[in-house]
Amino acid sequence: MDLDKLLETGDRCIHKEPPTCVANCPVHLEIIDFIAEIENGNFQNAYKLMEKKIPFHQIIGRICDHPCEAHCERSKSGGAIRISELEKAVLEYGAVKPKKAWPLPKNKGKVAVVGAGLSGLTAAVDLDKKGYAVTIYEKENRLGGRLWDLIGDSLTEAILLQELKTIKDKKITVVFETAIDVNRLAELQTEYDAVYLGTGEWPEKIALNPATFQVGEATLFAGGRLTNENDSVVFSASSGRRAAISIERVLSKVSLTDSREREGIFETPLQFDSSNQPPSLTIPKTAPLYSQEEAIAEAKRCFKCQCRKCIEGCVHMRKYETSPDAYIRQINHSERIILGTHYANKMINSCTECGLCKEECFLDISMKDVIQETRESMVKRGKMPASAHDFALKDMAFSNSSRFSLVRKQPSKEASKDLFYYPLISFSDYVKGLYKGTGKTEYLFYPGCQMPASYPDDIKNIYEYLVGHVNGDVGIYLGCCGAPADWAGQQDLMAENVAAIKKVWDEMERPTFILACSSCMRIFEKYLPEITVQSLWDVYLKEGLPNKDYLKTAQTLSIHDACGTRENSDLHESVRKIVAKLGYRVEELEYTKEKTKCCGYGGLVYYANRDQADAFVSERIGESQNDLLVYCTMCKDLFVSGGQRTYHLLDLLYPKDNVELATRKMPTFSERQQNRGRVKQILLKEIWREEAMEVETADTYQLIIPEDVQKKLEDRYILIEDIQAVLKNAETKNERFCNPETGDFLAKLRRQNVTYWVKYAKEGETFIIKSVYSHRMEIVEG
Ligand code: SF4
Ligand code: SF4
Ligand code: SF4
Repeated sequence: MDLDKLLETGDRCIHKEPPTCVANCPVHLEIIDFIAEIENGNFQNAYKLMEKKIPFHQIIGRICDHPCEAHCERSKSGGAIRISELEKAVLEYGAVKPKKAWPLPKNKGKVAVVGAGLSGLTAAVDLDKKGYAVTIYEKENRLGGRLWDLIGDSLTEAILLQELKTIKDKKITVVFETAIDVNRLAELQTEYDAVYLGTGEWPEKIALNPATFQVGEATLFAGGRLTNENDSVVFSASSGRRAAISIERVLSKVSLTDSREREGIFETPLQFDSSNQPPSLTIPKTAPLYSQEEAIAEAKRCFKCQCRKCIEGCVHMRKYETSPDAYIRQINHSERIILGTHYANKMINSCTECGLCKEECFLDISMKDVIQETRESMVKRGKMPASAHDFALKDMAFSNSSRFSLVRKQPSKEASKDLFYYPLISFSDYVKGLYKGTGKTEYLFYPGCQMPASYPDDIKNIYEYLVGHVNGDVGIYLGCCGAPADWAGQQDLMAENVAAIKKVWDEMERPTFILACSSCMRIFEKYLPEITVQSLWDVYLKEGLPNKDYLKTAQTLSIHDACGTRENSDLHESVRKIVAKLGYRVEELEYTKEKTKCCGYGGLVYYANRDQADAFVSERIGESQNDLLVYCTMCKDLFVSGGQRTYHLLDLLYPKDNVELATRKMPTFSERQQNRGRVKQILLKEIWREEAMEVETADTYQLIIPEDVQKKLEDRYILIEDIQAVLKNAETKNERFCNPETGDFLAKLRRQNVTYWVKYAKEGETFIIKSVYSHRMEIVEG
């Protein structure tokens, strides 16, 4: 994994970039934190933030010309946040006594500051703190310069005097009533290591670097009103502070210019979308100063501007309280350390790889791609915990085994005469399907592995429909597209699977695949672009809906698009048209079509972190009061398991009598595999008239499994055939413990990397399963 590229992606994320108000505050008060403290009524904490960032905060906090407010995002919807008024309120309600600072030894050099206005005083205090011996030269007999002109309701004389006392308290030398002229300045430059000029006016034009405040190449620096065209008080203070940084850099012989792009006012790369935020008007002052309640109310109006676009849509990032920048740093960390961390591994396996983040991001940052690459790297480095995806990969192996997998051409004209042909009535749709008997497979129906697991009875219906409607021979191919291997980061396995599909495609003379599952569509797009595919739903729309008695309820449904279809806008439209043809109204969800959310199955999260999958389910079903309509079987199964009435498109196209379709529960893991096997049996028997093959089955013992144990089977990914195997081993080899008090047996058996425990009782020929447990071994490479 290219970690430098990874970090670059993380650096592009603007989540942590400062809001426009902070970028336009010359001293960068942490405005969001400051406002959040006020909002919580913590005026003292807010005060400490002012103290930390604003020089002479007791003065500037009262008279600041607040350039921040002119750039506030709130301006467009109710008026800028009155940051300067909030500062005044904080000075009133939150002031705490300053901590006594112990003076540092002044051994780093000597600096002269000319002019005791705000910029000079700021430079002097900052340099004093840094350990320089500072001498201030002031032409008047008092400190403060033009601050005296700003005395008024806010800044009183008493406060000004109190603040200016700092200079005396710090024992900074001041030489009063000493005007410095051009000649004397030249002398000061030889007497001192550096000179700061903050006189407001100067007889000569001064050419200085606006980023460093250095005059030419010299040890002379200037700031304050000399460099400040619009007279901004806060800019004056900031220029003094930045010049002090320059002086320190020059005197300590480090680069004067490195990493200083963000001093003073700068342009923030943050983009904040406030379009969805309701307007809210500025809180008016009912007295010269905001009351605490008014200040809190004003603080509440602040958007706390931060890019959270992708996070808002992603329950995974919210659950882990992370953002792409931090997430990527965490991945970088666990990629660099030898063992990986359990926490990071679990987090990485809890992203559904749904791709919504990229869709939402201003900068196209895709956590889906980052996570996929990370999983692949974890597999390569032997750091992927086997337990995370073990069951899903075994389930995939099942689907590609002879128990489910099947490839067949359409039966010959002769053999299928009574199967597909309908009375030849010229106005019937079915006429189109008259089998021409070319023998060349033009189409291959590939229903995937989840649809046969959840809708075993419909696969034959669909196949018959296709043969009856599509022009050209339609074969069938049962198997798994490899989505589990892809999501698990198992690239070798994925490559094998892709090769197997390609082989069938070639052998069948390269037919068009008709796909019914959104995960298959995604996999074919990603790994098999050479194969032409068509969605089953597009076929229905094009060829006409099957002639069935549809559910005629004229209900309003909300369509949930599977996340694998995100980029397939044609498919979104086809599905909506079918639903409209069936007589339903559609209400769109907030996140829909290319911005759809994941149901919680994606990325194998359902297997790696069930809590996280549940959170996806509940967030999605919480979005609508209507019944949902989906066209991916896993979406249906998960939403129903979350308690949401959900139809699959097949429920509407092939309704069954006496079944409450919208609440039909997800088959268990064992039932899913049995269903797949059954689909194969039905097709072979009823379409190809082939002898039913031998079904390998371990179903030998009669079992009673109470509901609570059934739930455990699902939670621990245990199949009935695993239980049968444990019982067989226990009963035939007598490898079991008996509890003499209860008469219960406890038996265990290791199958591949999983050990299963079964507690059971026997009643005649029946086994009552009392409890089950499984443990998946981690394969530790060493
Ligand atoms: S809304 Fe708040 S965070 Fe955003 S610019 Fe205004 S003050 Fe700053
Ligand atoms: S891919 Fe989906 S689940 Fe993963 S981080 Fe992006 S939005 Fe979240
Ligand atoms: S949308 Fe997400 S990834 Fe993109 S910049 Fe914002 S926080 Fe970062």
